[in-house]
Amino acid sequence: MKKELQIIVPPEIAFNEVKLHLYIQKILQLSENDNFVLNLKRRSIDARSREIKVNLSLNVYVNELSNEQLLYEIPKIDVSKSPCAIIVGMGPAGLFAALKLVEQGIKPIIIERGKNVKDRRRDLAALNKMHIVNPESNYCFGEGGAGTYSDGKLYTRSHKRGDIQRILEILNIHGAPNDILVDAHPHIGTNKLPKLIENIRKTLLDSGAEIHFNTKVTDFIVEKNQMKGVITADNREFLGIGVILATGHSARDIFYLLEKKKIKIESKPFALGVRAEHQQKFIDQVQYHCENRGEFLPPSSYSLVQQTEFEGKEKGVFSFCMCPGGIIAPCATETGEIVVNGWSPSKRNNAFANSGIVVAVDESDWKDFSSFGNLAALEYQKSVEKNACILAGNTQKAPAQKIEDFMNSKISSSLLDCSYTPGLTSIDMKAVLPLPVYSRLKAGFKAFNQKIKGYSSNEAQIIGVESRTSSPVRIPRNKETYEHIEIKGLFPCGEGAGYAGGIVSAAMDGEKCADYLVKLYK
Ligand SMILES: Cc1cc2nc3c(=O)[nH]c(=O)nc-3n(C[C@H](O)[C@H](O)[C@H](O)COP(=O)(O)OP(=O)(O)OC[C@H]3O[C@@H](n4cnc5c(N)ncnc54)[C@H](O)[C@@H]3O)c2cc1C
Repeated sequence: MKKELQIIVPPEIAFNEVKLHLYIQKILQLSENDNFVLNLKRRSIDARSREIKVNLSLNVYVNELSNEQLLYEIPKIDVSKSPCAIIVGMGPAGLFAALKLVEQGIKPIIIERGKNVKDRRRDLAALNKMHIVNPESNYCFGEGGAGTYSDGKLYTRSHKRGDIQRILEILNIHGAPNDILVDAHPHIGTNKLPKLIENIRKTLLDSGAEIHFNTKVTDFIVEKNQMKGVITADNREFLGIGVILATGHSARDIFYLLEKKKIKIESKPFALGVRAEHQQKFIDQVQYHCENRGEFLPPSSYSLVQQTEFEGKEKGVFSFCMCPGGIIAPCATETGEIVVNGWSPSKRNNAFANSGIVVAVDESDWKDFSSFGNLAALEYQKSVEKNACILAGNTQKAPAQKIEDFMNSKISSSLLDCSYTPGLTSIDMKAVLPLPVYSRLKAGFKAFNQKIKGYSSNEAQIIGVESRTSSPVRIPRNKETYEHIEIKGLFPCGEGAGYAGGIVSAAMDGEKCADYLVKLYK
């Protein structure tokens, strides 16, 4: 007998397998002789009232076996002698495009400028401890892309449930915990992601795919508006039936190359701001309305948004990529720039909570850069990152200010402990940020302090700059075929091309590009 249940239980039952079994046994009035299996389908925390509850959807099989299984299976197929397609970039978009090509009998040749996950780790240590930015291997570049050393949050604004479930199942089969299949806000954690990426690499190699690390694409082979292949920095040519360009939002050299080769690109809006860091304990107390969150509830997160006005124009200030129990990371891809972002381990057990607090910027913000044409937004983004670096002392030390001091235009006389390893320099962030962004952030923090009392106090600080929220460039493509609007056989893909924001949406876009490439070929 199968029973579908929707129940609301306290956290100590929801997050404890034994207690949950006993609870189900009781409400279904099952005897000790009844065998039953629980299949959890969905789990979400409701912290709106003082008494925290957890909503669970589950299927219970009583005295019968569950016939539920994952839809995805690792393909058992050899594509080593099949026609080849080129994938540039091995982030989520490139990886999922490759898996999809394999399923459809096409051999992916993946070209990745960075190192494999293990070797990449050493460059992250050098960046954190010695302020050395390796332009080919950093938090953005290398196996798994920008998603590898991240929080591994797996939410997306997309509502394509089937597509999302497939991505989650692929991640789960390659090592992500089962929780991601049921939690309303799933995440994996930096400590688990590298192994998972290695497992995906193994699936690809076992199927006959080719992977080239430490290999940077520096040119495209285009004949009569048809993309034939790519040329790499070591002067090798790779040819294929199509090229999926999944190089991420930080591959500025690719944007410069496209512009130089007159392959159409355009500036696009992105979001710019700072990362705010609080004590996780403070966020837990506010969100869970209690002194201690106890042993069952996960470190809590928040989501904030406020409309603000500057020179008569309304725009939102919003929290972005919140990392409970997380670390702020130096995410520059070149020396002479400061970029911050956040990650967390799977347990999210660090003392701090960090979140991007950003404002959408558009054409009106980069009007002074209009002489750069299609690269105006990129040059504006670059100038903010460079300015932050110069003002903070030309290392990877980041500019910072306590939030109340920021509100009162006062340089902080001292800064708080911070998770950002390279260190901080106390600066008035007004000098770091463009005026419209600065003004809106100020108004935003004022409002956030009313929504979360104490949010904008001097017990918290802001660290700059959060500038790589999404790509400042779009590579326009045909809505029907996903090919570049002018160049056949070129598939602009993922976050760098302007069609994704985050791991899951980049992965879904990778799959779509692979599908269209195969469709066109066949
Ligand atoms: C610290 C951090 C934390 C994050 N946390 C989260 C999170 O919790 N949840 C979430 O959804 N998103 C998160 N993100 C964003 C997420 O990682 C990206 O949205 C996602 O990785 C984009 O995928 P992509 O494949 O389009 O591009 P990318 O992941 O950027 O991958 C692009 C790849 O292309 C390679 N490449 C670039 N140029 C070349 C070239 N010329 N030749 C060869 N290879 C090249 C790069 O080395 C890179 O590996 C985070 C990002 C960072 C930096």
